[in-house]
Amino acid sequence: MDAQTSLLDRLFDAGLLIDTGVEGLYGRSGQFEDVIAAFERYIDTFGGADGAEAIRFPPGMNRAYFEKSGYMKSFPQLAGTVHSFCGCELDHVSLLKSMDDGTDWTGEQKATNIVLTPAACYPLYPTIAKRGNLPAKGGLYDLQSYCFRHEPSTDPARQQLFRMREYVCMGTEQHVTDFRQTWMDRGVKMMAGLDLPVEIDVANDPFFGRAGKMLANNQRDQNLKFELLIPITSVSKPTACMSFNYHQDAFGTKWGLNLEDGAVAHTACVGFGLERIALALFHHHGLDVKQWPEKVRKALWG
Ligand code: 5GP
Ligand code: ZN
Repeated sequence: MDAQTSLLDRLFDAGLLIDTGVEGLYGRSGQFEDVIAAFERYIDTFGGADGAEAIRFPPGMNRAYFEKSGYMKSFPQLAGTVHSFCGCELDHVSLLKSMDDGTDWTGEQKATNIVLTPAACYPLYPTIAKRGNLPAKGGLYDLQSYCFRHEPSTDPARQQLFRMREYVCMGTEQHVTDFRQTWMDRGVKMMAGLDLPVEIDVANDPFFGRAGKMLANNQRDQNLKFELLIPITSVSKPTACMSFNYHQDAFGTKWGLNLEDGAVAHTACVGFGLERIALALFHHHGLDVKQWPEKVRKALWG
């Protein structure tokens, strides 16, 4: 049995994650959720004084915003769209017949105006752009959302529906790159406070196809994405538990995000993979939180 399956099985056996019959789609126990809630409060102790505006979007976003974001160009393999039955009574009869016959009933489902959120910050940019120019001090936002990515796996650290906590910064190039550096330093400090081993490395997003390889190389060459990695199910391939992304003025241009003087805003976002961080804690300190080192318990629960 590989390390991924065995950690998943141990999490099921301990009742921390709950099998739904679909890879990467799990229920969470109260204990698992308590670790995530404690970690989110721990984030607040580092970032709370920055005065970010908290916004919570549901895990589905406006399909028009999603289309304009370009996500289907870059990551069609990961996207999840919400489809519904929109037919008449006759269509309903054939739907039921198709389900009874065990033939494909999903073909007649029609796309709704909702798409599953692929990253917590996607609904933010058009929302802020609608407000008009950014204030003189730029914009800082605190987000958290369930996100969907279609990548079934038996690795518990790769889930199809997982939560991302993000801080997003909008401003000048200097302002947002300083923000990103601050969080890289904080991320290392935060994990040290939880006795988790980390390394930071340059990274790329999983752009689709051959053209995507070029985009990925470009992203790496320009140091646009860094990840904070913690070993969970593999020591040789540690898992990205945080990412630090600098979008240059790409989102500013796309969405019409402007600074107070009308110049196009640069943006950066910092994301915490909340399930991955909980899993890192369970992997390194054991499945019984009462047995975790006193220092870690104190950092999380006071
Ligand atoms: P990114 O947008 O950089 O791909 O994702 C931001 C963060 O979300 C990652 O650093 C990681 O912590 C978390 N994340 C990304 N993909 C997955 C996944 O498949 N499963 C889980 N549980 N977390 C993920
Ligand atoms: Zn983001």
